Amino acid sequence: MTDTSPDQPRDFIREQIRADLSAGLHDRVVTRFPPEPNGYLHIGHAKSICLNFGVAGEFGGHCSLRFDDTNPAKEDQAFIDAIIEDVRWLGFDWGDHLHYTSDYFEQLYDWAAHLIGEGLAYVDDLSPEEMRDYRGTLTEPGRESPSRNRSVAENLDLFTRMRAGEFADGEKALRAKIDMASGNINLRDPVLYRIVRGPHPRTGDEWCIYPMYDFAHGQSDAIEHVTHSLCTLEFEDHRPLYDWLIDNLPVPSRPRQYEFARLNLTHTVLSKRRLLQLVEDGHVGGWDDPRMPTLSGLRRRGIPADAIRDFIGRLGVTKADGVVEMSYLENTVREHLNRTAQRRMAVLNPLKVVIENYPEDANDTLDAVNNPNEERAGSRKVDFSREIYVERDDFMEDPPKKFFRLGPGREVRLRYAYLVTCTDVVKDANGDVVELRCTYDPESRGGTAPDGRKVRGTIHWVSAEHAVRAEVRLYDPLFAEAEPGSGDDWLDGLNPTSMVVRNNCLLEPSLADLPAGETVQFERLGYFCRDSGGAADELVFNRTVSLRDTWAKKKAKGG
Ligand code: ATP
Ligand code: MG
Repeated sequence: MTDTSPDQPRDFIREQIRADLSAGLHDRVVTRFPPEPNGYLHIGHAKSICLNFGVAGEFGGHCSLRFDDTNPAKEDQAFIDAIIEDVRWLGFDWGDHLHYTSDYFEQLYDWAAHLIGEGLAYVDDLSPEEMRDYRGTLTEPGRESPSRNRSVAENLDLFTRMRAGEFADGEKALRAKIDMASGNINLRDPVLYRIVRGPHPRTGDEWCIYPMYDFAHGQSDAIEHVTHSLCTLEFEDHRPLYDWLIDNLPVPSRPRQYEFARLNLTHTVLSKRRLLQLVEDGHVGGWDDPRMPTLSGLRRRGIPADAIRDFIGRLGVTKADGVVEMSYLENTVREHLNRTAQRRMAVLNPLKVVIENYPEDANDTLDAVNNPNEERAGSRKVDFSREIYVERDDFMEDPPKKFFRLGPGREVRLRYAYLVTCTDVVKDANGDVVELRCTYDPESRGGTAPDGRKVRGTIHWVSAEHAVRAEVRLYDPLFAEAEPGSGDDWLDGLNPTSMVVRNNCLLEPSLADLPAGETVQFERLGYFCRDSGGAADELVFNRTVSLRDTWAKKKAKGG
């Protein structure tokens, strides 16, 4: 099926696939997403996932999830489990095609021996440092290793003994015999196998030699009959080696590699090594800290998987490297949540209001609309009473004319409820405002005055008697700088106020029953997700995103 409807994304990769299919090169498309299980997936990986699973779906093929588990020193079953959960959450299904490079270790070993037999690989005695020294530079050719001209028999014997564990880590390595003078450093006799000891999450201590990425990757693609092996631009210079290996091995299919630009985002880092450091050094609470750009962090923050897919789709796929503004992601999230999130009332910084002419024991329940953009979401009841809380910021003792909220003598609308007028301000010994006294207009139920007088401001509130207490975590970008440095000083750019915790927030009671992981709009404040990280009875909310683009505002001010 080659769908060419205008809704289908179009990019150079999809064009290539269309061309290959119409030229009869393949009868179906097979792709793979190949994470190394040495960390959690981040939003950059989402780009690769959406592309690989996306094209497989559009062209009627399949995409496999393949763990590139070739380095036991850094890999872990916990990472495998997290990756599986995250790809599924993002909305993709690999069916029966869950693979591990480690499933192919025996085959890869045989192919390495095949290269030795053809005189195309040799066991080298140089240490990793010496190899680096012999490799040459971009302007100077490399030098040949003294081991380079070993006989096939000797190489086969040494390789067998490498596998048998006769040598220490790093004492020997298997290298391809290509060209030490090649202009492409990847072709200067690249290492194919190295000795590493350490328990592998799947093969335990069965192996002490492991294939390098470059040797494992293309051959695994070939075993799985991958037609289009899609990876990021940094692998462009590896493609000649990818092709060399495919050309020189009796592999069952001929995959081709295509490269696209990786996703970079401002105000964060998208490298597993750096994310690991943030976790290990305690700069964040874990891989799923809501400030992390990991899929698990974004999920815990309340960002819907749909919004991530949509964001990735809007960016498209090109060969041009660039950095995408974080505000672009946030805007996409806002757009989604504005459509889907239910509205609730919550007061983050409460100021008590006593409505003096409201009867002490009266109980009124008012109708509140759940989502003005989605009629089917219906409405709910909110309780009103004589004592309520409003946001401290919604009161000013000496307000300017254009402050359409509460001030002495000013009238304001309580959302879904009544018009109230501030009649008195109560202060403590320090002169701080601790309570407001108001009167309400009993005729204004629902928020309109019968005489038609105009009241511009509408504020949110909660009933003191009914409200539930919660902790609310306000997030700002993890990095204050748009592009954290690329050197060792990258941590200097961390934003010291990336999380601000508010402890005594008061929420309308229906929020106590909101399931963990669900996101609602706190009216006038932003979108907030019930936290899924703590104990089930804890009421904690994470701010997903504010209502407006605060970045645009800051930029306009030049700050
Ligand atoms: P990192 O640089 O974060 O360590 P990686 O490339 O080492 O990432 P892998 O687990 O090897 O991590 O990545 C799996 C796939 O995801 C690879 O095909 C890689 O090209 C792709 N990928 C990784 N980062 C990005 C990104 N920022 N944008 C697009 N694709 C990415
Ligand atoms: Mg990688």
